Amino acid sequence: MFRLFSSGVDDLVLVSSPTNGEITSQIGARFDRELIYTNIGEVLIAVNPYKQLPITGPEFIKMYQNSPGGNEAPPHIFALAERAYRRLVDENESQCVIISGESGAGKTVSAKLILQYVTAVSPNNSYGSSMGGSSQSGGGIPQYDGGSDDPNRGRGMPMMLPRGGLPQRGGGAPRGGGAPPPRGRAGPPPPVPSNRGPPPPVASGGGEGISRPVPPPTRGGARGGPAPRGGRGGGPPPRVAPPPSASSRRGGGTVDVEHIKKVILDSNPLMEAIGNAKTVRNDNSSRFGKYLEIQFDDNNAPVGGVISTFLLEKTRVTFQQKNERNFHVFYQMMAGLDQATKTEWGLTQATDFYYLAQSKCTTVEDVDDASDYRDVVAAMSTVGISSEETTEIFRILAAILHVGNIRFQGEAPAQVVDETPLQWAASLLGCDPQFLGQSLNHRQIQSGSVRHTQYAVPQNPDQSAGLRDALAKTLYERIFDFIVARINNAMQYHGNTKVIGVLDIYGFEIFERNSFEQFCINYVNERLQQIFIDLTVRGEQREYHEEGMKWKDISFFDNKIVVDLIDGNKPPGIMRVLDDVCKTVHAVDSATADIKFMEKLVHAIPNHPHLVGVNNGQFTIKHYAGDVEYSVEEFCFKNNDNLYASIVCCLQSSTFPFIAGLFPENMNDNKQAPTTASYKIRQSANYLVQRLSSCTPHYIRCIKPNDRKQPLNFVSSRVEHQVKYLGLLENIKVKRAGYAYRHLKDVFLGRFGKICEPPARNIQEFVEYVCKTLKDVSAEEFEEGKTKIFVRSPETIFMLEDQLMQK
Ligand code: ADP
Ligand code: MG
Repeated sequence: MFRLFSSGVDDLVLVSSPTNGEITSQIGARFDRELIYTNIGEVLIAVNPYKQLPITGPEFIKMYQNSPGGNEAPPHIFALAERAYRRLVDENESQCVIISGESGAGKTVSAKLILQYVTAVSPNNSYGSSMGGSSQSGGGIPQYDGGSDDPNRGRGMPMMLPRGGLPQRGGGAPRGGGAPPPRGRAGPPPPVPSNRGPPPPVASGGGEGISRPVPPPTRGGARGGPAPRGGRGGGPPPRVAPPPSASSRRGGGTVDVEHIKKVILDSNPLMEAIGNAKTVRNDNSSRFGKYLEIQFDDNNAPVGGVISTFLLEKTRVTFQQKNERNFHVFYQMMAGLDQATKTEWGLTQATDFYYLAQSKCTTVEDVDDASDYRDVVAAMSTVGISSEETTEIFRILAAILHVGNIRFQGEAPAQVVDETPLQWAASLLGCDPQFLGQSLNHRQIQSGSVRHTQYAVPQNPDQSAGLRDALAKTLYERIFDFIVARINNAMQYHGNTKVIGVLDIYGFEIFERNSFEQFCINYVNERLQQIFIDLTVRGEQREYHEEGMKWKDISFFDNKIVVDLIDGNKPPGIMRVLDDVCKTVHAVDSATADIKFMEKLVHAIPNHPHLVGVNNGQFTIKHYAGDVEYSVEEFCFKNNDNLYASIVCCLQSSTFPFIAGLFPENMNDNKQAPTTASYKIRQSANYLVQRLSSCTPHYIRCIKPNDRKQPLNFVSSRVEHQVKYLGLLENIKVKRAGYAYRHLKDVFLGRFGKICEPPARNIQEFVEYVCKTLKDVSAEEFEEGKTKIFVRSPETIFMLEDQLMQK
């Protein structure tokens, strides 16, 4: 099983003349034998089998745990996880696993397997209690004694002895690039905006057949009229109140590693409930990007974790295509909430609510929403959300459903068709129904010339429906952020740690029609590709340097030109042009704004090699992964991502402190320029790049074999498309431009030395013998570094393998 050098196709670097077609057929041949994992050096390709394969049980964890650094055993996600964990332990450096691939390719499952592996193989007790003892024994609640604030704490600790200590095959370890990774520095990250969220085509009207729930019971306190703005004493409430336990693990507290492991694993179903949904591509599709860092102490035990989220698709709250669903949590609530509460909140059934009914799909095969509801409630408790807060959260979700049933008619200012849903929503939100109604049929507009002057513009039914949806999305986003913040409070360790980060984020998207969402996602992927190229190439070159070899210049496509095209400032990139247009178009309608954007684009970025076909409401970017044609429709509207003052003020007036607390902003502060969606995405991407660049990266490229979720069905054309845009060919070429193979000299001689007679004692003897006896092998094929031998082409390795077999 553990071959030092397994046969060719295990590693695509060994394909002698790689093309996209050849890569596809190699992957396909393995897939047919149920081998879903293939390497490109240290990059792992994972094809979704759509079938439970018996390859992730405890015995597999054991097997890879015992293979040094995850090498030498067949390609597997646990091999990659082992390599990451081993390197964290041996080199005391932070690691990250970057998972990419299109929707349904298996990213989220892969991320879970990484967590499963890492939590299984790491110790169950933190540094303080495990000195000298077996770190695997677990049990008990150890005391954490590392209260020191010394940033160097731990660096002087003797490193654990490398187990096996063998280097990796097939490629230099891409390390942290130029600057050395700031060891263990994993301080609290800045809050990351999550907004994938361009509003949807406004779905006004609709919702036929919606039965009327009974009007809400009048609740004294809940409808006492709007509180004057800023009238609550003591300034705006914190967006997220710190839970009582938040500071208990700062430095010198107790770390219950087993509890942390539980939080890390249990937060998954909770995050999926609020962030995942059934789509046509995937029954459990993540509608947000997620970066989870697991924090490790000097004992290499997980003592904490931090989640950052990106680009939540909040549009989904108000709009879903046919056969898709809203976020799981809504259906879980409808199926799992007790009847008394449902009655109290006016929740009848899912099909009565437009936000759940419009797509004509409320259930998912093999999913039990009621039982998932119980898991989610349990997970909320695990992460320290109190039962009162849990109720508050579900009540807001119920309110969102009622908000979705509010419909408008007549001239501006539009009138609600039926007061009932408005009453319910107001009651559940603790707002005055009249105030709520006014904040939906009027929009506050800032005077262009006179600062601090606002006037309310009456809205027609379509515009009011837009505001209604904005209200729903804003509420949902705040709940999402609240829960993420709570999970972080429950698991973040505020001390000196090193991390393993796991990035599960949308892959490159090329659809029939590509809009602002794809533009943002593809931009983030360009940034990730930049790190990828940068680190693989630089890592390769660094290894040559360390080994004292001649410096090899590897040519590769540097996609910086595309990144600059999108986010550049001088000369202006597309986002800059968009932001400039958005600043000036508040008064005009969305379509006019988009036309202006188009015109500006032509003038601002003429003759760019990667921007073509700018006309007819479209433009094409030549991305590293292929050409994508974007439709500019709603670019400006989605980019503006307005937080409507009237809505925020209404929610700030809520008699429920929890709701008011979700909106801490000061809407009177005119000094702050409104931030655009593209600005936030740039910020998120910068943050992500900065975090990832400080780690040693490991890559998983997920591939979806067919579009029907069919088990073990490999559709070559579909796969080849992905192979192409995942840039696998480029990846292989970069690898092959250097050396296909490298290994420690001792290990190499131990294996291949036997070919020689008598067995070679050093590399020189080996090379001399081989070149003399094998006519196709020349001395240029080998290069000796300080500790390693490098072999240029895979064919040479095959030949050596053949020789070995003949012995
Ligand atoms: P993504 O996150 O890339 O959109 P998921 O990880 O959610 O995709 O995978 C989609 C579905 O495919 C999963 O719900 C599961 O049914 C199946 N799947 C993915 N990876 C595997 C795997 N390694 N083994 C078995 N089934 C898988
Ligand atoms: Mg996913």
